[in-house]
Amino acid sequence: MEYGGYYDTVVVGAGIVGIATARELARWGQTVLLLEEKAGIGEETSSRNSEVIHAGIYYKPGTLKAKACLQGSKLLYDFAEKRHIPHKNCRKLIVATNSREVRTLEALLANGEKNGLVGLEILSQREARACEENLSCHSALLVPSSGMIDTHQLMLALLADAENDGAVLATSAPVLRTEVIANGFVLDIGGVHEARVSCGRLFNAAGMGAQSLAHNIDGFDRKIIPPLYAVKGNYFSLCGAAPFSHLIYPPPVTGSSGRHYRCDFGGQAIIGPDTEWLGMINYKNKAPEYFVFANTETPDRLIQINDQQAWQQRAHYRVDPGRKEDFVRSILSYYPQLNPNKLEPGYAGIRPKLGITSQDNSDFIIMDETIHGIPGLVCFFGIESPGLTSSLYLAQIAAAKLDQVVPYDPRERISPQEYGFLPKLAL
Ligand SMILES: Cc1cc2nc3c(=O)[nH]c(=O)nc-3n(C[C@H](O)[C@H](O)[C@H](O)COP(=O)(O)OP(=O)(O)OC[C@H]3O[C@@H](n4cnc5c(N)ncnc54)[C@H](O)[C@@H]3O)c2cc1C
Repeated sequence: MEYGGYYDTVVVGAGIVGIATARELARWGQTVLLLEEKAGIGEETSSRNSEVIHAGIYYKPGTLKAKACLQGSKLLYDFAEKRHIPHKNCRKLIVATNSREVRTLEALLANGEKNGLVGLEILSQREARACEENLSCHSALLVPSSGMIDTHQLMLALLADAENDGAVLATSAPVLRTEVIANGFVLDIGGVHEARVSCGRLFNAAGMGAQSLAHNIDGFDRKIIPPLYAVKGNYFSLCGAAPFSHLIYPPPVTGSSGRHYRCDFGGQAIIGPDTEWLGMINYKNKAPEYFVFANTETPDRLIQINDQQAWQQRAHYRVDPGRKEDFVRSILSYYPQLNPNKLEPGYAGIRPKLGITSQDNSDFIIMDETIHGIPGLVCFFGIESPGLTSSLYLAQIAAAKLDQVVPYDPRERISPQEYGFLPKLAL
């Protein structure tokens, strides 16, 4: 099968955000090519998360995260309902295990209400136990709109929509370098199908690779590329019958909503993610600079290593069984009947953070021409949690943003003949 060398739009990265964006743009009648460096879709962060549809309780009012989470969760429930994607509105209990933590619950409730959430309620110990008889707590915050979704089924359904509208997916197709030309871009694609393609609009939805992709766009001002903080989240699974049907969360910790409990669509109880601070990459200079955290348990101090290989060795997805003790301690605080022998290492994901604390510049960034000065280019940076929940909304606003900045006009289309070197992309 062969594909032409020019597309109205290229989307780089077939995770949930890239697939949702390709679907959105294909709906507008554009020709869309979705490029993915892995052999399949959604093999990175989009399949290494908690699959939770977040309600929007944690995020600072007025931020893109807060808005995208609230709007995105509505779109997601609606889409899942219509397309019969496995999902459940199982609700969340954030537990206080002592009287001091109640203040955290009250602050979360107030924040959630500022974000527009309704139905939030602090339950007494007795009320919480009426919801979950195995739960041990002082009190709990009930979040009624939280739920779960089968992420892979979601990505397949979105991709099917995009392909029905003519979008083309190329896997094992890493984008190595991008040249900015008049009215568009030329992309060098490596991997098994080395090729060059051109396009009028380019969406960078490369997740953990977004900064690197931007760094390799000729003419992109490196000084405005946000730093990439890599923060791993490990999960453990619990053998045997699942003890709770709600999502059970501890109060949030720096960098994460905390090691929570959930029961997946196969009935498997899973706990996580924790926070393991891996390192940071600074893309502001010609050569990226690599740093690791001196202590992976706290983000206090970074050490420069300038060795890409050593950095990559740290950023792996294996789960260290030695982390079990901390998991046991945290689960026992709300589930004293836990049998630690039933807890096994599960899987891990890595959060593409832009800062260390919530006070840092840690909102989602959708960077367009008004910031980077390159017409037709949109970059997603820092799409950590709640990126899954927000994906349909992020795709809508990114597509609309581009349309406002560069109104789409098919007459601007670059003719492939203008760039006679373009080979076919054979898949
Ligand atoms: C531990 C953890 C738990 C989470 N839990 C939740 C949750 O419960 N709810 C929620 O809403 N969100 C959650 N998230 C966040 C959510 O998973 C992410 O926000 C979302 O998956 C990001 O999707 P993405 O498409 O931006 O990135 P990705 O899924 O990483 O996709 C990017 C894709 O780009 C590809 N790529 C990279 N570079 C290139 C290149 N040069 N050329 C071609 N392809 C390239 C990659 O291979 C990858 O497939 C969690 C995240 C983590 C890490």
